[in-house]
Amino acid sequence: MNEAALKLSGITKTYNRGQPGEVTVLRGVDLTIGAGEVVALVAPSGAGKSTLLHIAGLLDTPDEGSVEISGQRLTGTSDQVRTATRRAQVGFVYQFHHLLPEFSAAENVLIPQLANGVARAEAAARAQELLKRVGLSDRAGNRPAALSGGEQQRVAFCRAMANVPRLLLADEPTGNLDPATSDQVFETLMELVAGTGLSALIATHNMALAARMDRTVRLAAGRLSEDS
Ligand code: ADP
Repeated sequence: MNEAALKLSGITKTYNRGQPGEVTVLRGVDLTIGAGEVVALVAPSGAGKSTLLHIAGLLDTPDEGSVEISGQRLTGTSDQVRTATRRAQVGFVYQFHHLLPEFSAAENVLIPQLANGVARAEAAARAQELLKRVGLSDRAGNRPAALSGGEQQRVAFCRAMANVPRLLLADEPTGNLDPATSDQVFETLMELVAGTGLSALIATHNMALAARMDRTVRLAAGRLSEDS
């Protein structure tokens, strides 16, 4: 698969269009992420990072422009197609882990696979394998509340990777952690992604982390620019 994992063309987005609270967040955003590429998205708070990630991940629709994932144009397709594509091809990680509190770490990684039609035994094996890769084999049976913040995010990464996505979208995945933990957890994420061919768009305020990715794009005044 050599086609771009993600291709955004001419994306615009205005909230509360035509109303007093109208706010134009994206003014023509173009972005292509190649196979295996890890891209940092840097922007001040309120600049529209989350909006862009939600549009890229098919959770929101742009006013204009198109979204392609793995060469498939998703703009204008049905909710079913978009949901199925999101489940099978996109993994999300947020600043807060959003794990299901009443389920164990392993179950949190297993459940999205069941929703994607994977058989239970296979899903359970993949959950164990992913948790092992992030050093959490001995925590697999713990509920999120019994895990540290860094461990919770590691489980959230495993959940995002559970369905072998083409594209990982992360919204400040280490933003809620202390600097040392943030560094370790980021390293784990890079190790998890390395060699899989997975592409990623990772929003961060941390320039040291951004510098460790393949390239950096900046969002300001509704437009993306590339760091040279
Ligand atoms: P960031 O993630 O960079 O902090 P967001 O994408 O969350 O930025 O928000 C960008 C701007 O759009 C902000 O001014 C925010 O208040 C506004 N916004 C976000 N979501 C909505 C919404 N559903 N309705 C109205 N305004 C919104």
